Amino acid sequence: MTIERVAIVGLGLLGGSVGLAVAECLPGVATTGYDADPQVRQRAAERGLAGTICETPEDAVRDADLVLFCVPVGAMEAAARACAAALPARAIVSDVGSSKASVGEALSRALPGHRVIPAHPVAGTERSGPDAGFASLFRRRWCILTPPDDADPDAVEALRRFWEALGAKVEIMDAAHHDLVLAVTSHIPHLIAYTIVGTASDLEEVTRSEVIKYSAGGFRDFTRIAASDPTMWRDVFLSNREAVLEMLGRFTEDLTALQRAIRRGDGEALFDLFARTRDIRRSIVEQGQDDARPDFGRADHTEPGNCR
Ligand code: NAP
Repeated sequence: MTIERVAIVGLGLLGGSVGLAVAECLPGVATTGYDADPQVRQRAAERGLAGTICETPEDAVRDADLVLFCVPVGAMEAAARACAAALPARAIVSDVGSSKASVGEALSRALPGHRVIPAHPVAGTERSGPDAGFASLFRRRWCILTPPDDADPDAVEALRRFWEALGAKVEIMDAAHHDLVLAVTSHIPHLIAYTIVGTASDLEEVTRSEVIKYSAGGFRDFTRIAASDPTMWRDVFLSNREAVLEMLGRFTEDLTALQRAIRRGDGEALFDLFARTRDIRRSIVEQGQDDARPDFGRADHTEPGNCR
């Protein structure tokens, strides 16, 4: 099957980036877009985030071959229900949500009988809203598809080709495994960043202006992550509760071991761990998942560019 018309529901960072990437990488594919917020719809029209910005969710999905829900994880079910009456039977239903098992269940509940193939492009920034999106967001980033066991293979293949056309590398995974992997690579790191920035701002002995003034010492990088959208991240932790709690348990044990090493003056244990983690950073840079430059090369990410 070929995808010729894509409907994007939710026109923030992810939805806007999909629209811009389709326009650049798949110029023959038509896009429609809808967002619950009228001001976002207006800004989306000004920026050309989709070919046609619709006033209702039904109008957006009426002729779609692929519908992509790009709303916060906790809003997926309501967004899908609002489209149900107009959704063509042939359409592939997918999303970009950061957790997968609960989103797959929510979409299937809202749209029974439809071909639901959840997806998660592992690409993003700490910015949100209709001004945040850019066409090259998915370039060389992974997009994980979590099709249910009985998914139509043609639809999975069509979705794989769609994401590859936007420049992404596609991996297929079981939803529960995705949630566990992302708990440790994305969700727990965000929780740690929110915690450390919160702790620093609550300190009584160190003033807030000192925290900001001397932020270069590692703290600054945490503040970037801790500036991520509160709605999105609240929903991620609530929807991926089990996996996050399991990984948090392991992390807490490791943190306790580090605390003990510091208390006992066990420099060897500290050095061994820090040497191992340095190797992981090196592998991430070598595999093209980040940039070795001090600014992580982030300035480049907004440059217009081709899809590959
Ligand atoms: P965003 O910039 O806040 O955009 C989401 C948009 O969806 C907002 O404009 C929001 O409007 C709108 N919306 C909420 N409920 C809706 C509904 N029922 N119908 C239509 N529109 C609705 O968020 P985002 O960063 O693009 O995140 C979208 C999804 O991508 C989330 O599920 C997130 O987990 C996932 N994701 C995010 C990242 C990242 O780094 N940000 C990376 C990968 C995946 P209001 O603001 O008025 O609510």
